[in-house]
Amino acid sequence: MARKISKNRNNTPMFLEKDTNSKNITGWIEVICGSMFSGKTEELIRRLNRARIARQKVEIFKPQIDKRYSEEDVVSHNANSIRSIPVQSASQILFYANEFDVIGIDEAQFFDMELSSVCSHLANHGVRVIVAGLDMDFQGNPFGPMPQLLAIAEYVTKVHAICMQCGNLAQYSHRTIAGDKLVLLGETESYEPLCRACYIRSRRQPLKEQSE
Ligand code: ZN
Repeated sequence: MARKISKNRNNTPMFLEKDTNSKNITGWIEVICGSMFSGKTEELIRRLNRARIARQKVEIFKPQIDKRYSEEDVVSHNANSIRSIPVQSASQILFYANEFDVIGIDEAQFFDMELSSVCSHLANHGVRVIVAGLDMDFQGNPFGPMPQLLAIAEYVTKVHAICMQCGNLAQYSHRTIAGDKLVLLGETESYEPLCRACYIRSRRQPLKEQSE
């Protein structure tokens, strides 16, 4: 008798997290993506903490650009934090990344385009690489190296926030103040998660000026 596999509506096996455990297999890449306030970093921390409990050697990297909370921590919005190494470029991860079983990368959208080849290199050398990042910028465009990472990853988890206007699942990070600068650091209050319909409607309305 065929083994039962839980399936989603598209009738494809649902992946939540890698469930095989063989020492013979090589490394792999997992991507956790979604909008702001979707719990990406919380999910990254959950996976890394479990690996750490199992005494796997774990290290976390984030781009130096992200100074919202503290230099040394990957910090999620619920203040559940984990220490990390800030690096200025993706290739610097290779410099630090010897001898680790699991490598986490947070805020991946802010890294340079070399990040996908860095992750491939690590995975090819037996490392479990877990990447978390925004898949779209506030204009709804693919963000930085995220499209490449999504293409090369074995496993992709898209997490959703809740639309602040209607309560549906949200995938857009809508900026609530004017300006076209791509990165607004330390200003999570300037964004709201929206679903597609509310995002389209909100983009048609004029934004407040930042000085207000
Ligand atoms: Zn909505």
